[in-house]
Amino acid sequence: MKIEPSATRSHDHNACVHDAVATAVDLCEKRGARLTAQRRRVLELVWGSHRAVKAYEILDDLAREQPGARPPTVYRALEFLMAHGLVHRVDSLNAFVGCNHARDRHEAQFFICDGCGLVREIDEPSIGQAVTRGAKKLGFRVDRQTVEMHGRCEACQ
Ligand SMILES: [Zn+2]
Ligand SMILES: [Zn+2]
Ligand SMILES: [Zn+2]
Repeated sequence: MKIEPSATRSHDHNACVHDAVATAVDLCEKRGARLTAQRRRVLELVWGSHRAVKAYEILDDLAREQPGARPPTVYRALEFLMAHGLVHRVDSLNAFVGCNHARDRHEAQFFICDGCGLVREIDEPSIGQAVTRGAKKLGFRVDRQTVEMHGRCEACQ
């Protein structure tokens, strides 16, 4: 099981953003995908914190820098970032969070703090395997898997 490095209060978040962008640049280069300035900026905005951000919040930030920015600009950039595993959608919040192990294809599970909004990701393959077994029994085809837990993070308890 992979757990992301400390996403707690005191850490050098610039390093998180820097790593995320470096990974994105590297992955896109390897895959022949174009990480345009716009997509890169949206990735940075998603990585503004370890909380999930809503598309309109990203748009607000972007519009401050680029007055012409419109919702499709943001949605298209998010689609691209999700397709490359750089960003995950947190369904229960209808919001987005950056992924810090985008290099490996994975099904992510999320722990969401209802106190401070911190979202932490784990990648526990046995959960996906259990879902696959259950689906097989039912003859069900899983298109999308969402495993999200709500509660309180360590700091908010
Ligand atoms: Zn950070
Ligand atoms: Zn992830
Ligand atoms: Zn919290």
